Amino acid sequence: MVLLISFITLVVLLLASNIDAAKRLHNVLARLHGGADSSNDSDAVADEIRDVVIIGSGPAGCTAAIYTGRAMLRPLVIAGYMAGGQLMLTSDVENFPGYRDPISGPMMMDDLKHQAMRFGAEFWQTNVQSVNLSKEPFEIVLNNCTVKARTIIISTGAEALWLNSENEEEFKGKGISTCATCDGYMFRNKPVIVIGGGDSAMEEANFLTRFASEVTLIHRKDNFRASKVMIQRAYDNKKIKIKTNQKVVKWLGSNGILSGVIIENTADGSRETLHADGAFIAIGHKPNTEFLKNQLKLTDNGYIALSEHTMTSIPGVFACGDVVDSRYRQAITAAGSGCQAAIDAERYLETKH
Ligand code: NDP
Repeated sequence: MVLLISFITLVVLLLASNIDAAKRLHNVLARLHGGADSSNDSDAVADEIRDVVIIGSGPAGCTAAIYTGRAMLRPLVIAGYMAGGQLMLTSDVENFPGYRDPISGPMMMDDLKHQAMRFGAEFWQTNVQSVNLSKEPFEIVLNNCTVKARTIIISTGAEALWLNSENEEEFKGKGISTCATCDGYMFRNKPVIVIGGGDSAMEEANFLTRFASEVTLIHRKDNFRASKVMIQRAYDNKKIKIKTNQKVVKWLGSNGILSGVIIENTADGSRETLHADGAFIAIGHKPNTEFLKNQLKLTDNGYIALSEHTMTSIPGVFACGDVVDSRYRQAITAAGSGCQAAIDAERYLETKH
C-alpha cells in the first residue's frame, strides 16, 4: 500500500515537473525495495552532503565503514563494480584473526559488508570516475551523478599484475596465486613455481621453501631487479631452482586444478613443460589511483602519500589499505588501517563542528 501511494505521488510529481522532489521519492522507493545495498547510483540525491564517503570495499573500506557506521556517520561506500577487492579472488583465507576454520575470500567480504550495513553503512556497486578535492565539500563523480562529502576515505587497494598467459583465467585462485603469504601453506610437499625478478619474487620463493618440495623461479631476463642480498639468498637456498630468460606460454591442468606450465626460452624459442601444483605470480602491483591524478600527492610509484597517520595531502581526505601500502599488503593490515582512517575522519569532523 505504501509503495502504491508513493508510486502515484511520484507520477504526480513528475507530471508537475518537480524533478528534484521526484528524484528524492524515487530514492526512497529504491531503498524500500532494495534496503541499504543499492547498486544504482542514479538514485543519488546530489545536493545531500555526506559526512563520510568511503571509496573502495575491501577489508580496509569495510572496516572504515563499520567504525564510521558505529560513530553514527551513516557512511556511503562506493564499492566499485568488482566490489570486495582482492579477496574476491582468494579461495581460502586462513590468516585473518577470528576465523577458526578457513573461510573463502568472497564469504569473508560478504560478512564484513553485512557487518558494516548493520551499523547503517550504505553500499553502491559502482565505480568512481573522478574526484574534485580542490573545494569543500569534496565532489565524487560517479556514472550518473556527483556525490558531495565532508570527508573521504580512500581504500581502493592495489591490483596484483597478472601475466595473462593462455589458460590463466581458468586457474586463478585455483593453483595460481599472487600472494605466497596467503596461499603458500596449501602446497606442502608439492612443487611450485614463482614468476618475477624483483624483491617480491625472491621473497616469495624463499618463503615458499618452508612448504613446497621445490620452488622454480622463472624470470624473463638474465639479470634481476631484486636487491643483491635477496638474489643471493635465493641462489643459496637448495630448494630453489632458478631459470632465467624464460616466459610462461601456457598453464596446464584439468578440472580446474593446475598441474604445470609450458615455458619458452626468450633467447632461442625452445619450450619446456614443468610440473607444478602451485604458481605464484610476483611481477608487481599497481595501486588503484588513476582517478586521483592531480588531486592529491602520490608517491613516485603511484601509491597515495600520507602526511600524518592516515591523512593525505588534502585535509579531510584519508587513505588506508593497499592503496598506501606497498610493503605488507595483508587483509588484516588493511583492516587495521581502515579502522585508523575511520577514527581520523571522525576526529576531523569533530573539529569542524
Ligand atoms: P618490481 O617492479 O620490483 O619487480 C617486478 C618484476 O617482475 C621484474 O623483475 C619484472 O621484470 C617482472 N615483470 C614485470 N612484468 C612482467 C611480465 N609481464 N612478465 C614477466 N615478468 C614481469 O616489483 P616487486 O613486487 O618485486 O617489488 C615492488 C617494490 O617493493 C620494490 O621497490 C621492492 O624493492 C619492494 N619490496 C621489498 C621487499 C623487501 O625489502 N623485503 C619485498 C618485496 C618487495 P623486468 O626486470 O624484466 O622488468
